Amino acid sequence: MKLKVLGCSGGIGGERRTMALLLDDDVLIDAGSGVGSLSLEAMAQVDHVFLTHCHLDHTAFLPFLADAAAFLRQRPLEVHALPETIAALRENMLNGRLWPDYSALPSIDNPYIRFHPLHAGQPVPLGTRVITPLPARHAVPALGYRIDSGAASWIYSGDTAFHAAFWEGLAAMDNLKYLMVEVTFLNANRQGAAISGHMTAELLARGLEMLRRPVSLLIAHMESGREVETMAEVHAAAGEWQPRPVQAGQVFEF
Ligand SMILES: [Zn+2]
Ligand SMILES: [Zn+2]
Repeated sequence: MKLKVLGCSGGIGGERRTMALLLDDDVLIDAGSGVGSLSLEAMAQVDHVFLTHCHLDHTAFLPFLADAAAFLRQRPLEVHALPETIAALRENMLNGRLWPDYSALPSIDNPYIRFHPLHAGQPVPLGTRVITPLPARHAVPALGYRIDSGAASWIYSGDTAFHAAFWEGLAAMDNLKYLMVEVTFLNANRQGAAISGHMTAELLARGLEMLRRPVSLLIAHMESGREVETMAEVHAAAGEWQPRPVQAGQVFEF
């Protein structure tokens, strides 16, 4: 299995792109501005989109993706998300005002987007690959994902505060290899992190204490312009895990 990071920043500016991961050629995890890096032909090959939550830095390019490749694909984009996320997109995005209702256009029988509700802990098999939603705690209902090739698992926390259920789940995984976790805020902004449901380096260290097993640790979703300071705090809090900032364009095979 091949995973390409299209976007992994907490915001935009220069080369920064918001969250989107391409799994092989046909599956996207989140649809932030990283989706805009794909060629039109690559967009047409995407069949499934798994969303962590409704926030725009994870969903803003979903309508553009459905639009851009529509005449090439001839089949709906299968969008998997929590029922609350689907409701938020229907009410606020695909509502006939901000954007047309692509879940009913061009026809009810063959729409641009078809929604599939999912729930934490319920695996979705796609051939030999299995994508399992993981529990998260954020300002709105949210998920992380386990992407399991069979040989190894790649974990993406999504947007989340410290959440014991997430870390307990990781500790029980037999083939855990990569952990991409958000560290949005500096330690000094722990109050902002608590209110908005995000991580700091201190909270990351608390989670890693529960993990107690080796993992390749990747840091994502840092505030634009504060990546260097944030990584310094991550190294201070969890240096023994050899954390690395994940970069747009990186490819992982597992
Ligand atoms: Zn969010
Ligand atoms: Zn976000």
